[in-house]
Amino acid sequence: MQPYSELFKAGELIFAEGDAPTGAYLIEAGRIEITTTHNGAPCVLSELGPGMLLGEMAVIDDSPRTATARALTDCRLTRISTSQFAERLAAADPIVRALLMSQLARYRSALATLTGVTRGAPPPRFEPASDAGAMDKIRLESELRAAIERKELELRLQPICAIADGRIAGYEALVRWRHPERGEVSPSEFIRLAEETSLILPVGDYILAHVCEMLAEMMRRGREALPFIALNVSARQLEDPSLVPRILGHLEARRLPPDRLKLEITESLVFDLERVADLLAQCHGAGMHVALDDFGTGYSNLGPLLTLDFDQIKLDAGFVRAIHTPRGAALVGVIVQMARALGSELVAEGVETREQYDVLGRLGCHYAQGWLFGKPMPLQEVLDAG
Ligand code: C2E
Ligand code: CA
Ligand code: CA
Repeated sequence: MQPYSELFKAGELIFAEGDAPTGAYLIEAGRIEITTTHNGAPCVLSELGPGMLLGEMAVIDDSPRTATARALTDCRLTRISTSQFAERLAAADPIVRALLMSQLARYRSALATLTGVTRGAPPPRFEPASDAGAMDKIRLESELRAAIERKELELRLQPICAIADGRIAGYEALVRWRHPERGEVSPSEFIRLAEETSLILPVGDYILAHVCEMLAEMMRRGREALPFIALNVSARQLEDPSLVPRILGHLEARRLPPDRLKLEITESLVFDLERVADLLAQCHGAGMHVALDDFGTGYSNLGPLLTLDFDQIKLDAGFVRAIHTPRGAALVGVIVQMARALGSELVAEGVETREQYDVLGRLGCHYAQGWLFGKPMPLQEVLDAG
């Protein structure tokens, strides 16, 4: 069995330049000198002590040792296997991994210049494709930052039909990014990216202001029975305690009735019950409605519904797609009953055909949204139609 720690006597060689990487070490006790050869003469690169890592570079990129390590005093080291690092690196954020690999490559090239020894480019241990993916992601992120300033994010409104009278009761605001070269980038792609960083906050604020402006424009055009607009709220935005007061600020500034803006929170965010309960209380206090989005996807945990009183439940399109089957219709029927029993309204998403709409009506569903009533469209089209 491998001992937990290995002992090296003062003066003893731990590994030598050119050796294959067999693992790294955590220095528990003692001091170690790292040297390389410069113009044929040994040159000290650094001295390492307790708590520091030794030999980690070669195991990160699987290259031969570029320096020699020798114990200056008696040393005790804990060995870290190559696979321990590899596992963590593979699990790391691809951008962090790309940064690390890039720094390592640069350090090796500087070292090669210093020593005059070129060992060739280190064999890439991680698929270059994954690094290319990371770079693509970081490029997209930079472009998204610029897009907010250049106002390349556009909002579309998709009609939501009240099944009882067949009228358009409101719209869901869906964001689009018109990229000058990539064309229209799907929100499923860039919203997820924005959510990984704090970028979702300016994106969310931009969308919020824009949605309120659209409502105000509808009101100015004198649309009687002002329709509501449903706004998607992401996880990071929910964490912001000033979210609801800021929303109300936007509404007040434009003299908009708070019940014309609905928030949509996706099912997978509802694990933080306390935060969502707080949001619901703040919204209800101000007369604003909140919908539980994508119901029936994710983990479909009904627990949150025990305590959280959503005004609407949005049934994921997957159920509507299956509504022509007996099982699909049975399931949707039960979900409609559940929503009614809880005092919530059910909104079916992804309604594409008249048949689906008719079945939803028979089952008692309140609202339907989907291509049958219209694709997400610019405000101007909504105003022209109204
Ligand atoms: P979501 O909130 O579930 O939005 C509904 C999605 O279904 C939209 O996709 C919509 O265009 C699409 N859809 C609507 N009717 C139909 C239909 O009849 N058939 C089919 N096949 N699809 C239909 P979209 O616009 O690509 O948005 C994707 C997701 O991106 C949204 O899913 C939402 O999670 C997110 N998203 C969009 N806009 C925003 C936003 O402003 N803020 C945030 N945080 N997320 C957003
Ligand atoms: Ca939504
Ligand atoms: Ca949805």
